[in-house]
Amino acid sequence: MERIGIFGGTFNPPHIGHIQAAKQAVEALGLDKIILVPDCVAPHKAIPPNSPTGWQRLDMLRLATADDPRLEASDLELRREGVSYTADTIAQLRRSHPKAKLYLLMGTDMFLSFRQWRHWEQILGDVTLGVFYRGDHQEIAAIENQRAELKKLGAGVELVKNQVVSISSTQMRRLLAFHCADSFLPRGVADYIRENGLYDGNANWKNLPMDQLEAVVVSLLNPNRVAHVLGCRDTAVDLAKHWGANVTDAARAGILHDITKAIDGPLQLTLCEAHGTILSDFSRKYPKTLHALTGALVAERIFGENEAVVSAIRYHTTGKAGMNLLEMIIYVADYMEPNRDFPGVEKLRELAYSDLPQALGLGLEMTMEHLKRQGNALSPESKEALAYLKRRNAPV
Ligand code: FE
Ligand code: FE
Repeated sequence: MERIGIFGGTFNPPHIGHIQAAKQAVEALGLDKIILVPDCVAPHKAIPPNSPTGWQRLDMLRLATADDPRLEASDLELRREGVSYTADTIAQLRRSHPKAKLYLLMGTDMFLSFRQWRHWEQILGDVTLGVFYRGDHQEIAAIENQRAELKKLGAGVELVKNQVVSISSTQMRRLLAFHCADSFLPRGVADYIRENGLYDGNANWKNLPMDQLEAVVVSLLNPNRVAHVLGCRDTAVDLAKHWGANVTDAARAGILHDITKAIDGPLQLTLCEAHGTILSDFSRKYPKTLHALTGALVAERIFGENEAVVSAIRYHTTGKAGMNLLEMIIYVADYMEPNRDFPGVEKLRELAYSDLPQALGLGLEMTMEHLKRQGNALSPESKEALAYLKRRNAPV
């Protein structure tokens, strides 16, 4: 009996994580082939603006699966148009493959919410579920629970260990915007994206006026960071006016300072590698500080910002010895913008307008205390910044 896997999704864009997962499912479940089905309109999920058309997503999926005859990209949901319900797709495939054993492949989240799907009971009558899991204990417990429940209803559920690249489409689109996605894209897909100017890959974001810059930045941040970033910009502008710094530079550094913050730790390393940056041992050990480095990279290479802005972003988390006015302003603005709320923030806000180096010193000391409590080390740059400020304040 022919054994066929069905792997649906938005594939926006298809990446190596999808392809490797499909190949693992072929092996693990002994499948003859997998049909990958890009959706037309996903239920309960809006497709982000600037996304390629469904037919372009299918083109990319065809390129991504071209060198493995066991993987087949299907236009079934695109041709059906409208909201792509899995139940309809399964019914269609059941009709065209009446004798085959069908496996519906899905990730853990989908599996755990399976009984909220439209016509899920009907789906269970036609397929065995193939569930990709990563293997942490909590996840396995939840999966086993759901598997036991569904088995009572007569469902077939098989697990597929997924040891491969795990990367969300949202992250992929950020990597594309920062020109470092190639290592995650199957052969042909990266070229297709470039040739067709998809995902803003060919957009020129250099020297954007502030309103356009704001829109682009907001589209690349996690939604929960937007208020902080706008707050930091406004505070930086205020401080720049107060201390006579360049107001435009302050605004641009403020809005861009956390531009790569939404990139996960390991992907920060990818971003560095793609841009040929060599990392210190400290950065490798504590990738949390990396967003300042990669933010500066992106500000320079993607947004074409000037040296002053780039440097202020570069040192906004760690500081350094002998910081200039703009660097101090961004460091302090990041710490005290209106959304920040912690013991000592009022003191910092006061100092920011009376003695900026002292505000910087207070920020560095608070960071040091915080890191100590967490059992983490202070960066070499922060140590040098503190030592510098101490020397500066020492009586001669
Ligand atoms: Fe930051
Ligand atoms: Fe920040």
